[in-house]
This record gives sequence, structure tokens and C-alpha cells, in this order.
Amino acid sequence: MPARTGAQFLNSLRDSREVWLGGQRVTDPQEHPALRGGAEAIASVYDLHYEFPDDCLMPDPETGEQIAVSHMIPRSKDDLLRRHKALRRVAEFSVGLMGRTPDYMNVTYAGFAGRSDEWGINGNEEGAENLVAFQKELRRSDLSLTHTLIHAMSDKSKGHVPSGFDETQLHTVEKTEHGMLVRGARVLATLAPFSDELAVYPSQPMPDASRRHALSFCIRMDTPGLKFICRDSVSLPDNRFDHPLSGRFDEQDAFVIFDNVEVPRNRIFCAGNLPVYNSVMSASWRANAMQQTMVRAWTKLEFAWGLACRMAEAIGASDPVTLQMLGEIWGFAELARSAVMAGEQGAYHYGNGAWFLDGRPMDALRMSLPYWFPRVNEIIRLIGSHNVLATPASGAFDDPALRPLIDKYLRGAGDTSSYDRARIFRLGWDFAGSALASRNEQYERFYLTSGARNRQNIQMRADRTEADRLVDRFLQEKV
Ligand SMILES: Cc1cc2nc3c(=O)[nH]c(=O)nc-3n(C[C@H](O)[C@H](O)[C@H](O)COP(=O)(O)OP(=O)(O)OC[C@H]3O[C@@H](n4cnc5c(N)ncnc54)[C@H](O)[C@@H]3O)c2cc1C
Repeated sequence: MPARTGAQFLNSLRDSREVWLGGQRVTDPQEHPALRGGAEAIASVYDLHYEFPDDCLMPDPETGEQIAVSHMIPRSKDDLLRRHKALRRVAEFSVGLMGRTPDYMNVTYAGFAGRSDEWGINGNEEGAENLVAFQKELRRSDLSLTHTLIHAMSDKSKGHVPSGFDETQLHTVEKTEHGMLVRGARVLATLAPFSDELAVYPSQPMPDASRRHALSFCIRMDTPGLKFICRDSVSLPDNRFDHPLSGRFDEQDAFVIFDNVEVPRNRIFCAGNLPVYNSVMSASWRANAMQQTMVRAWTKLEFAWGLACRMAEAIGASDPVTLQMLGEIWGFAELARSAVMAGEQGAYHYGNGAWFLDGRPMDALRMSLPYWFPRVNEIIRLIGSHNVLATPASGAFDDPALRPLIDKYLRGAGDTSSYDRARIFRLGWDFAGSALASRNEQYERFYLTSGARNRQNIQMRADRTEADRLVDRFLQEKV
């Protein structure tokens, strides 16, 4: 099947999945007022592939059908540059506010299939074959995946990954005639109400864990026993003037409970194989998947800079403090762009014919973003001041008696009309101050684990060869 359309995607959401929101079970995400905007946004992402076919579509290497470029297994630097264009198109759609558009998991699974040799170690040949077959199905059916990697540890003093066996964490119960039975919980499945399947794969290594926790698989969202508990919605009614972002870009996040769930044998990629579980994420995953996340981040930073500039201009704020803050956001955006370019230019063959980015600039950007994005929101709120709250709604502009007063007292600097001023500052508040903004800030702080843990991990694995050489020149000098 060629790349799906938005309508085909929306039809696929009508099944017997168990998604809970606000204490109620959702029957059809598209019909739910708090989920409709997100569902339609993901549908638009599917349609976007047909709006920009040169950037977003390519022939499937085996069937020749037009598939999404994000499913491509990169075989050269040119492939990665081509994929960049497709990722940028999707990122621009939500100006980076939706982090888990389907291209994120498409890129991840293309990388896993490209390096199936990393999965086929320690007797896991069948798991690796299942993974390659699944990626073919994923790209041909153009599924939307949610994923959950993180163990739902309720007591941090016991560590951040299971030690020994913990029955609350996702684990195998028994083998069944058609696969295996699993039970337990995981966090946090973003995009769950808007997905066809749930992917489970490793995050941090867990050297002391029971092998029963070492799991990776992919299953349909309507698999019996699978339960998703969504956080409260941050979506607002779809009024493009009043809520230009909150009306459509809430991608949702859900806690996942596996209450005796059967995983079909052909969908198991790792079952109880600790060496596989503890190693597959450390080799090439980062250098591949981070192209998607960092193109998104760069796009969002560019948008934030443009938005902040418009806000400042709308009220004639050109004082040194404002200019300094605007320049700060520009610096973040430019460093993000530079890191993505450096990663792509430094791409190389990782093995098995697969090419990925140089992971070092990606790592540096990844550990910076959890600190940059909250600062960007702070700057937008500082520049916005009370103006982000002095914004009449569209209905107020429609009132014939109120309109002349709004036009007189709420106009902006220069020739900025009251209407344009309200639009700009509503966009600013929706980006940096609304409930959606708050959720998005939390996302940027934690979606690829916390900034704190990222810094620790990077320090532990960074290559010190050159730094040591520079220091040794002085320490080894004859005195
Ligand atoms: C909005 C959102 C969406 C997400 N979507 C997904 C998704 O779709 N799929 C998925 O799998 N995951 C997702 N995640 C990520 C995941 O669920 C976790 O939030 C993330 O991995 C952080 O986990 P943690 O709480 O264990 O963080 P930690 O790394 O433990 O950090 C929490 C805090 O603990 C402290 N800390 C950090 N390191 C240490 C340390 N070594 N010792 C002591 N304290 C430390 C820091 O103060 C840090 O802020 C999402 C997260 C958010 C917020």
C-alpha cells in the first residue's frame, strides 16, 4: 500500500482500543472534543506527504509504491540529506510542537532494521528477523506508532531501572501457543490515542534486572488487556484566532498498563535476552533517531525567534534588554541548525550498509535543549509581559460596540492594528504560557530522559582523546 492519506489514518482509529481520558473511556478519538484537534493534525501530517511529494515520498525499494521518506533506511549521506527535507516539512507543520509525529518512529524503526545485526546477537536471530519483517509492514502500511521505553518505577530509591524482578514493571508471564503473555506498566506513550500500534523497546541498560524485563515488541492498540490512561487534555476549541496552537497540536501522553497482554510471536523482537536489551540502544540509535528530533527542535527554535521578534516589534520594544534576549534565542536556533548540519556532514557508515549522522553534535544539542527551551519560554513571557494577557478574543472583535474601543486602546506600535496585535500576543501566550505550552516545556525537559541524566551519560561515554592530548602537552613537559 502506498503512503496513507489523512482520511485513511482517521478511519484506522475506530477500533476497540482502551483509552481513558478524564475518567471516561474514549470510543472514537476523532469524535472526542479534547482529541479531535490532535487526530486531525496527524491526519494533516499524512496528507502533507502528498502536498510535497518530491520532499516527502519515495519508491519502496521492493514494491516501487510511493512510501514516506521517513521509512527509508539511509544508505549514504545523500539519503540522510534527502530525509532531512522530509523531516523539516513535517516539523514545520506544527512548528515543532508535536514531537511524536509518526516520522519519529518511522526513523527509529528504519534504523533498527538497518542495523538488524545489532539485534541478532546472543541467539536473537529470530527477533532480528521479526524486526526487519515488521519494518517492511510498517513502511508499507504506513502505521502510526506510539512507544514506551521507560520503566514505571514508583520508588526512585530502588534505582531508575529494575534490579532483580519487580512485578509492577513490564515482564513476561509465560509462553503461549501463539507468542508470550506480558504484564506490568510503562511510561509514557505520547500519541497513544492517535496510533495504530504500540512499540516497546529498551531505554537505559539494566545490568541487574531479571531477564523477564528484557522485552521489545510491537502490538496493535486494540490488543486485549492493553490500557492507556491519558493525562488531562490541554486542547482548547479549534478557533485559529483565539487558540492558534492549543486547538490542534495536543499530541497527548498516556500511562500504559499491560493487564495480561498476548504478544504474537512474529512481533517479538527481544524476549528475555539481556545482552541484546542492554546494548541495542547504545550503538547507532541516537545517531539515527536524533536527526528527526533535532530538525524538529531547530524548526521550533527558529519559529520562537521569529515570534519573539514580532512581539517586540508590535509594542515597539527595542531596548537593549529586549534585543539581548532576542539575540539569545537566535543563538539557540543557529546552534541547533549548525549541530544538525555538522551531524549530517559528518555522517558515516555505521555497519550493515546503514549510514547515520555523526552523533557528537547531536548529543551536545540533546543535552542543551532541556535547558534552552524553558529559557525560550521565559524570554517570550518577559518580552510579552502583560501584553500576552491583554488580548481580546475573536468574539470581542465581532462586537460592533466594543470594536472601536479595542481599536483605539489596544492598537500596537507603528501601524500594528489591534487585531494584529491580539493575534501576535495570543500566539505568544499559546506558545509559551498556555496549558499546551506548559506540557510542551515538560516534554522538552524530559522526552529523551532528563537533561541531568543526559549530561551524566554523555560525560561517561565522550571520547577524551583530543582533550587529553592538549592537557598532556603541559603535564608531560620537562620541568
Ligand atoms: C511530555 C512527555 C512525553 C514523553 N513521551 C514519551 C514517550 O512517548 N515514550 C517514552 O518512552 N518516554 C516518553 N517520555 C519520557 C519518559 O517518560 C520520562 O519522562 C523520561 O525518561 C524521564 O524519566 P525519569 O523521570 O526517570 O527522569 P530522570 O532522568 O530520573 O530525571 C528526573 C529528575 O531526577 C533527577 N535526576 C536525574 N538524574 C539523576 C541521577 N542520576 N540521580 C539522581 N537524580 C537524578 C533530576 O532532577 C531530573 O530532573 C515523555 C516524557 C514527557 C515529560
